[in-house]
Amino acid sequence: MSLLDFIPSPTWRDVIDILFLTIVAYQLYVWFRGTRALRVLIGLVVLGGVYSLARLWGLFLTTWVFQIFWQVLLILLLILFQSEIRQVLEKVSPLRFLKSRKRVSRGALAKELADVAFDLAREKTGALVVLTRDDDPAEFLHAGQTIMALPEPNLIRSIFNHHAPAHDGALILSEGRLTRMGCILPLSEKEDLPEQYGTRHRAALGISERTDAVCLVVSEERGEVSTIVGGKITTWETPGSLTSSLKDWLSLTEIPGPTFRDFFKGAFIQNWGPKSGALALVTIAWLVLASQQVIKTSVIAPVRYTNLQNELVVDRDSTHMVHLTLSGRRKSIKALEDREVRVYLDLGVFSAGTHQIRLSPKNIDLPLGVMIDRVTPQDIKIILKKPYKEDRDIPM
Ligand code: ATP
Ligand code: MG
Repeated sequence: MSLLDFIPSPTWRDVIDILFLTIVAYQLYVWFRGTRALRVLIGLVVLGGVYSLARLWGLFLTTWVFQIFWQVLLILLLILFQSEIRQVLEKVSPLRFLKSRKRVSRGALAKELADVAFDLAREKTGALVVLTRDDDPAEFLHAGQTIMALPEPNLIRSIFNHHAPAHDGALILSEGRLTRMGCILPLSEKEDLPEQYGTRHRAALGISERTDAVCLVVSEERGEVSTIVGGKITTWETPGSLTSSLKDWLSLTEIPGPTFRDFFKGAFIQNWGPKSGALALVTIAWLVLASQQVIKTSVIAPVRYTNLQNELVVDRDSTHMVHLTLSGRRKSIKALEDREVRVYLDLGVFSAGTHQIRLSPKNIDLPLGVMIDRVTPQDIKIILKKPYKEDRDIPM
């Protein structure tokens, strides 16, 4: 028996199953990337793998311990990561697309923000502006003061002035208004961040990992203007190039749809490492679980009579076919496709007349590992009679 015998041959449904879960696994990775929850998610996948193996090999004690702690662990994780989980669920929710997106921005706003950022950079005044889009960052903002003002360039300049009381922290620009200033944001826990980035950049990175906000950061130390969106830091050389990107990020104008080449590149080539990792993981899980999966099938089986007493014949009104509902592991059920299932009935002890015979598993010839769930009809009707002349003449 080779290793291939243990691998269940996938159907087109299995291929769709694997591909769909690969997309889900990859998306989960993308959404949780950079958050504390990712490490826990990876830990859970490893634990799930150990549990599946323990079940497969029949390790009774390990399986038992896992079954008990699994539920406790799940509740604990729900409590610990409620905010991350809520964010992910909000991203998946179709209501998100129905929500009125009030990303109203005056056409000039992008240019004004870019100019202010470069002015502040020239003076080496640090700044951090969070421009919200569809996600509401409220739950991640701490401290700070509520304001309600139009994003006038001079107001933004004065907020970040060293002598202004709320120059520290982040300024929030939401739905075309400055809404809060001096806010403390959650810091990103990213480990490979270059040394030049301190807490201001880490704070911007943190909020960009949790929401779809665009963060505009001016470095006090280097007089540098950067944007941080979706965990990606970009440094800008001129206000012009920053303006056009801000316009794209903040406007609701439709960006032309991707070409087929872009789609292909985006779907398969970009980020191929995590994508193939997700595919490998899902395929391994499928291989482990599919071989264990119990499936049902139904077949119609002919009834074969054996040991019929010499002078008797089986009347045509007797049951000749039975309907069987069978279950078993994939491999065993698959074996049914290659051969016919038959019901054998030993009539050696039966004399002429009508008999009701209840079928038992030993009457049915099945491959190893296939179980009978239901037989219809349960009782087989056999009419045995001595052949009359006319009967012999009638072709069966
Ligand atoms: P810079 O390039 O301007 O020096 P940096 O990334 O090196 O920025 P720091 O030098 O640590 O960061 O900048 C400190 C400033 O960052 C603080 O004065 C404060 O205004 C801001 N900051 C620090 N932590 C947070 C936070 N959690 N949320 C919002 N702003 C923060
Ligand atoms: Mg610094």
